[in-house]
Amino acid sequence: TTDIQIRDVSMTYTGKNGEPISALQNINLDIREGEFISLLGPSGCGKTTLLRLVADLLQPTTGNISIRGQSPREIRLQQKFGIVFQNPVLYDWRTVRRNICLPMEIMKIPRKERTARINDVLELVGLQNFGYKYPFELSGGMQQRVGIARALALKPEILLMDEPFSALDEFTREKLNEDLLNIWSKNKKTIIFVTHNIAESVFLSDRVVVLSPHPGRLSAIVDIDLPRP
Ligand code: ADP
Ligand code: ADP
Repeated sequence: TTDIQIRDVSMTYTGKNGEPISALQNINLDIREGEFISLLGPSGCGKTTLLRLVADLLQPTTGNISIRGQSPREIRLQQKFGIVFQNPVLYDWRTVRRNICLPMEIMKIPRKERTARINDVLELVGLQNFGYKYPFELSGGMQQRVGIARALALKPEILLMDEPFSALDEFTREKLNEDLLNIWSKNKKTIIFVTHNIAESVFLSDRVVVLSPHPGRLSAIVDIDLPRP
């Protein structure tokens, strides 16, 4: 079944001098429930813009996005998105556990449930022994795992990831890619993963959506049929 329906979506920003900057033009895309999709293309082709439109962090100039029959706004207000950015914003004066905890506190999830979820997600990302460490005591790869754990703790139905591993070295990135596939195969959430790395997109996703720049247009959709865990 279709999870996310993107119809004729265009996005034009306004530049510093009021000039229009066309970032996306007439994007049409259907994303299926539980699908792992990656958005691939060179810098400036509109990947982040498209992700932000889905997340309701931006509104399209024209066109429409529908998620399970609802608007991105409604889905966001129901806290159904988990978002992971390139550099996770972690509080250095809070332990890893309390960093993961914070969004759950804001959502008024009871303490017992929070503690159970913290334990679950720490195990999922392989940081069960680092819960009482502080972020500055962790490597970049571990910090990114904390960012993923924090997003997963909210049990999002749709996971949006914007170049989450691009600041990491090749070795760490490959390890995290493998872990992400394992996490995904356990709960089959819909994932949209932004990357400019072809190998990463092919390794991870069911379908690679290729965008071309000036302005961003959909230039290819490639089905990937690799064995998954
Ligand atoms: P990508 O993620 O593929 O690198 P972006 O979605 O960030 O691409 O950007 C697409 C285009 O929109 C680029 O030309 C970029 O300069 C422009 N753009 C992005 N954000 C803004 C903004 N806030 N104001 C003006 N132009 C923007
Ligand atoms: P525990 O060992 O009891 O699991 P954590 O530090 O891992 O302790 O925190 C788990 C839960 O306890 C979280 O829900 C967190 O919000 C809550 N908690 C811990 N310390 C505090 C505090 N100082 N203020 C508010 N809540 C706290």
